[in-house]
Amino acid sequence: MTRFTPDLLAGRQAELTAIRRDIHRHPETAFEEQRTAQIVADKLQSWGIEIHRGLATTGVVGTLKGNRPGQKTIGLRADMDALHLQEKNEFDYASSIPNKMHACGHDGHTTMLLGAAQHLAAKPDFAGTVHFIFQPAEEGLGGARVMIEEGLFEKFACDAVYGMHNMPGFPKGHFAIRAGAMMAASDTWEATFKGTGGHGAMPYRGTDPTQPAAQFIVAIQGIIGRNVPPNQAAVLSVGHIQGGTPGSPNVIPSEVLVKGTARSFSPEVRDLLQRRLGEVAAGIAQAAGCEADYKYLRRYPPLINSVEQTSLAVEAAALTVGRENVDPNVPPVTGAEDFAFMLEKKPGAYIMIGNGGADEGGCHNVHSPLYDFNDAILTTGAAYWVNLVNVELGDARA
Ligand SMILES: [Zn+2]
Ligand SMILES: [Zn+2]
Repeated sequence: MTRFTPDLLAGRQAELTAIRRDIHRHPETAFEEQRTAQIVADKLQSWGIEIHRGLATTGVVGTLKGNRPGQKTIGLRADMDALHLQEKNEFDYASSIPNKMHACGHDGHTTMLLGAAQHLAAKPDFAGTVHFIFQPAEEGLGGARVMIEEGLFEKFACDAVYGMHNMPGFPKGHFAIRAGAMMAASDTWEATFKGTGGHGAMPYRGTDPTQPAAQFIVAIQGIIGRNVPPNQAAVLSVGHIQGGTPGSPNVIPSEVLVKGTARSFSPEVRDLLQRRLGEVAAGIAQAAGCEADYKYLRRYPPLINSVEQTSLAVEAAALTVGRENVDPNVPPVTGAEDFAFMLEKKPGAYIMIGNGGADEGGCHNVHSPLYDFNDAILTTGAAYWVNLVNVELGDARA
C-alpha cells in the first residue's frame, strides 16, 4: 500500500485554507446550510463529481466511481453546520453573523473532505465507488438521522461509512480511535412531581412535591452506583429545576419539574437508565403521597465503531502520519455525535484528529467562543481520507 502523506497536498494548503476561512466567516446553523451546501455542490461539480442535493434539506452527496472495476462502495461523511454562539475571536475571518459561529470545526471537516474529493476526482485510481456525504445539523438536531430517514442508504448503497472529528488539545494531526463504543448515547429526561401544594406554614394539610423532587435528585446517582455494572460507564446530570415562584417563598408549589441528561455507551445500559429513572421517580413520589410524570427522550444513540473498519481506519491513519502518531485505543468520551445514526445502519468507523495543543494554536475546546479549527491539519485530514479510500478500495482489496 502506497502512503499518501499530507505533504503531497502541500500545494493545496492555501486553497483549502481559503475555503475553510470563507465557510468560517459565513456560519449557518441546522438545516439552513444553503450557502455552504452551494459551495460544496459547486466545487464537487467543478471537479467532475456527480452530485445529489436536498436530503435533509441541505445535504449534498457527491458520487465518484474509481477508474478500475469494483463493486464495493463506501461513504465518507462530513458535517457542515455551525452553532448558535457569539464568536469572540477577532481575526479577519471571524464570523460575520451575530450569534452564529463555527465553534466545533465543521468548517474544517467540510474542507478536509472537499480536499480529498478534489484529489480523488483527479486521480480516481481505485476500484469501486466513493460517496462524499455532506450532512446538515449535526449539532443537536440529528441531520444524519434525517438523511437516513429520507433514503440516504437506499439512494447511495454503502458497504461501510466513515466519519472524522477534530479534537482540541490533542497533538496536531495525530489520530485517535477505538473499536466498540467511542462516544456516548445522549438522551434527555424529565420528571414532574405533583402534589397539592399549599401554605408553607401548614404542609401537613397537603402534599409537597419539593420533597420527592429533592430526594429524586440525590437518589438517581444511586442508579449509577448500584444498578449500572461497575465495568460500564454512565452519567446522569440534572440541568434544570423549576417550581413555585421566586416572589412566593411561603407557598408550597403543586408541581416541581426536574430535567436532565443521560449518557451511556451501550443499548443495555441505555435501557436500564430509562427504566430506573422512571421507577425511582414513581417510587419516591408515591412515598411522599405525590405523583410523578416521567418522560425519557432518546436523542443520539451510542457511537459504536465496528472492529474491521476501525482497523482499516487505523491503517489509513498510520499511512498518513505514521503508526506512532495513532492511538488505536483512546478512552471513550461522554460527548455524543450524530454519526452514530449512520453507524447503527452500516459498519464503519469514526476517528478523531488532533486540532493541536496550547503551543500549536488548537487548544480552545469545541463550543468555546474562542475556538478555531487549525488550518495546519487540513491536508492531514484530507490525506487520511485519500488513504482510507486506498485501503478500502485500492490495490490490496481490489
Ligand atoms: Zn459540536
Ligand atoms: Zn462537532
